[in-house]
Amino acid sequence: MDSPIVWNITARDGEARTGILRTRRSEIETPVFMPVGTQGAIKGVRFEWLESELDARIILGNTYHLFLRPGVEIIRNLGGLHKFSTWNRSLLTDSGGFQVFSLTDLRKLTEDGVEFRSHLDGSKQFLSPEISMEVQAALGSEIVMAFDECTPGDAGFEATRKSLELTSRWALRSKDRFEKLQEEGVDSGFLSEQDALVGRSLSEPPAVGGGLRRIRDTDPAIASNDKLQPPATAGGSDLSGRQALFGIIQGAGHLELRNESLEKTVGIGFDGYAIGGLSVGEEKNVMYDVLEFLAPKMPVEKPRYLMGVGTPEDLIEAVGRGVDMFDCVMPTRNGRTGSAFTSRGKINIRNAKHAGDDEPIDAECRCSVCERYSRGYLRHLYQAGEMNAAIMISHHNLAFFLDTMRRVRQSIKSGRFATFRSEFLSKLRENDDARV
Ligand SMILES: [Zn+2]
Repeated sequence: MDSPIVWNITARDGEARTGILRTRRSEIETPVFMPVGTQGAIKGVRFEWLESELDARIILGNTYHLFLRPGVEIIRNLGGLHKFSTWNRSLLTDSGGFQVFSLTDLRKLTEDGVEFRSHLDGSKQFLSPEISMEVQAALGSEIVMAFDECTPGDAGFEATRKSLELTSRWALRSKDRFEKLQEEGVDSGFLSEQDALVGRSLSEPPAVGGGLRRIRDTDPAIASNDKLQPPATAGGSDLSGRQALFGIIQGAGHLELRNESLEKTVGIGFDGYAIGGLSVGEEKNVMYDVLEFLAPKMPVEKPRYLMGVGTPEDLIEAVGRGVDMFDCVMPTRNGRTGSAFTSRGKINIRNAKHAGDDEPIDAECRCSVCERYSRGYLRHLYQAGEMNAAIMISHHNLAFFLDTMRRVRQSIKSGRFATFRSEFLSKLRENDDARV
């Protein structure tokens, strides 16, 4: 039977691995960093930049935010999140669970699901595994996440066990509803075999609707993105055109419970596996210990996704422990506050020492911001409250994260990941004037 996604390992170096993930909408090299598009947009960075210079192949959408605003009906009626937003490459949507559970005072948890108050207007809302799957089908993402309870990083053993057992029951319910929705054909991102990516000619991207096609026909800048579509694969389509579903492993910092959650989740069977509940306030070494313990036990042939992580250092350390996929709001969130990631650590553009600085944010970065603008100019824009400062630093930060992953993949392919890791990390620590 055709699968919704295909992932093949292309190289290994220690626990680190590179691979190619094919979805119905793009070909993605792993390890990959996925920019976060909370409200259906990457804050401050237009899709045109993500498609061309930054070449992001997959981004995140947030179920919780889109569910509350503009609401599922509107997005469904406008043809799903791809068509609505015009983002034509892969989308991964989270389940909404993480955001709901961040609203500690605003929720009521039952076996059935979670009742909460909208942070927008205080209205009473309800999310369950079934509703989360329905929302994600309406959004039409390529990768859907199971609905889970995100256990706080400092939860005790018994509380964590209870939580992961609930997560496991919810995972089963997520999968049941997900499969029915796929059979019913309500996934708004569905691509028929003719439209699916694989087997298509290089010059013709998958259609997301008339609007985008119209722009593509007339705008050479957008039409030129076609070159970024992956090459057609010989032998016709082996993708089903449907959505993929990932399961989530919880268990906080308790290794025994991580193992239990892993067995339960793999027992249900998913297209990929995510590690949840890390980078939620626990110590850094807890995260590294959990990854070191867990990743080698996860199915080798499925992509491993570490949710919500992290700093450039975290990404490198996690890749070294066998993780393939990442997402984090940090590049754009930090960008908005004037904090830039560089190959020699973070800098804060607000710092007075940058006022007369003619150097780019990062002399080693080849992004269009670093090619053209100086730290002094960007600092001036930031101090003057010009929105271009946030836009340009966010752009550079995403370029830095995506380029770092490119270099990571290169080092794994050439069998020198360990050297790359130690050189990259020691350089990163040289000049950190704004540690996270
Ligand atoms: Zn740059």
